[in-house]
Amino acid sequence: MTMATSNNNHRVHPASADAPARGGAAFDLRALLDGPGADPVGLMEEHINPSFARVLRTIGFDPTYVRGEGAYLFDDQGNRYIDCLGGYAVFALGRNHPVIKDAIRQALDLDLPNLPGVGPFRTAGLLAKELLAVAPGNAGGAPPGGAGLDTVFFTSSGSEAVEVALKYARVFTGRERFVYCSKSYHGLTLGSLSVNGNADFRDGFGSLLNASEVPFNDLAALEQELRRGQVAAFVVEPIQGKGVHIPAAGYLAGAQELCRRYGAVLIADEIQTGFGRTGAMFACDHWGFVPDMMVVAKALSGGLVPVGAVLTRRDIHTATFSSLDRCSRMQTTFGMNDLAMVAGLATLHALRTERLVEHTAHVGDYLLASLRERLAPYQMVKDVRGKGLMIAIEFASPKSLGLKVGWNLLHSVDHSLFCQAILMPLFSEHRILAQVAGHRQDVIKLIPPLVLSKADCDQVVNALDATIGACHTFPGPAWEVGKKLTAAAMKRMAPAKA
Ligand code: PMP
Repeated sequence: MTMATSNNNHRVHPASADAPARGGAAFDLRALLDGPGADPVGLMEEHINPSFARVLRTIGFDPTYVRGEGAYLFDDQGNRYIDCLGGYAVFALGRNHPVIKDAIRQALDLDLPNLPGVGPFRTAGLLAKELLAVAPGNAGGAPPGGAGLDTVFFTSSGSEAVEVALKYARVFTGRERFVYCSKSYHGLTLGSLSVNGNADFRDGFGSLLNASEVPFNDLAALEQELRRGQVAAFVVEPIQGKGVHIPAAGYLAGAQELCRRYGAVLIADEIQTGFGRTGAMFACDHWGFVPDMMVVAKALSGGLVPVGAVLTRRDIHTATFSSLDRCSRMQTTFGMNDLAMVAGLATLHALRTERLVEHTAHVGDYLLASLRERLAPYQMVKDVRGKGLMIAIEFASPKSLGLKVGWNLLHSVDHSLFCQAILMPLFSEHRILAQVAGHRQDVIKLIPPLVLSKADCDQVVNALDATIGACHTFPGPAWEVGKKLTAAAMKRMAPAKA
């Protein structure tokens, strides 16, 4: 018998003579990246998404990045950028965190028995246990009998986790409908798209699931929809990503109470807000709120291996996985793969040992207060809000007539152009990468890695002060950027020549 029986008993098994040789010629990634034909925007234009490539060129977000570390990106000209977009909130720990890299290397060196299929998944079990231990309501130990968040289903993306949660809810309630909030974002697969509160994403993709939209923070509207009947679940982000909208104090608890009264479940989408982003482990924790189901993804990856998860109550889980022949009724090939699970375990480890949740609360307060103070004099700045390192700057139409001309001009073409006209010099002159918070919103959003320092914050505040300040003189050079964007947008909208 030559089979290895434990981790301490690694015997090398020579390959059979008739097995193909492994590792023929060496693979040289560096040479590939540095070789001819590796221009990133050119490749994107030719093989992935020409429209996106053209947008990158138009707005000048097209440097050749060569490295990422912590809160920074570096390009081939030696420029360093502060990354306030953070891969859309993936990089909680910062890019290429040494602990995550080391954990992945360890996993590779251990030749783990990845994806046994019909067999036990050890790393998934370990990550599920750790996730549940930090889940809302479970801090002092999970409530008995599976009354709190109690089981985990792993996926490979946030949207996929939302799909799973919607299916759990349908089986548990025996109902079909969903309720979601205006401006919500839960993903773009057909099921998750059905509960997406942005028409721009839904338009053109045909009929979706039976779902109704209600305003965020409006319990009366929610009750009205629940009363219409057949609602399986209300899906809600505890803090909305598109625009950073924060709920009133009793909103989440009130929504859950209504769901219980009308026999629906509440799914909290913590895909963006989870793992310290808002200065608490989960945004739900700010209000001591425990949802019936919670979906997570993004930051759990450590920024390196995609992963998502649905945390749910035992009774909701059991309704779907109700018998031995239904034990694999929902499954996904890569869901419990070792590298993703190890990245998740290492992420929780780093968050804990580096006290990043506390750091985020502290630095986030500092950034928010500094922005509020410095941007207060500007008439077009309507609001600066956020929690932790999820911060929005909202703009509104100016009072002065001169500025109104510029504002109206940009808004007559496209609602996101005004913010983009600020983001472009922020990027090209100040080397800070940030984003417009969503369609049809005059909101700039900052979701940098949680490892941001106070010195980084000062740089971000100075740069925003300068770029937003420049927009408050019309006509002026800042509006030239707007004019350029307007011309490009008009060209895009012009009917193509036959
Ligand atoms: N929910 C929220 C709140 C999100 O922010 C996102 C991603 N931006 C998703 C769901 C979808 O996740 P993914 O892109 O991994 O499918």
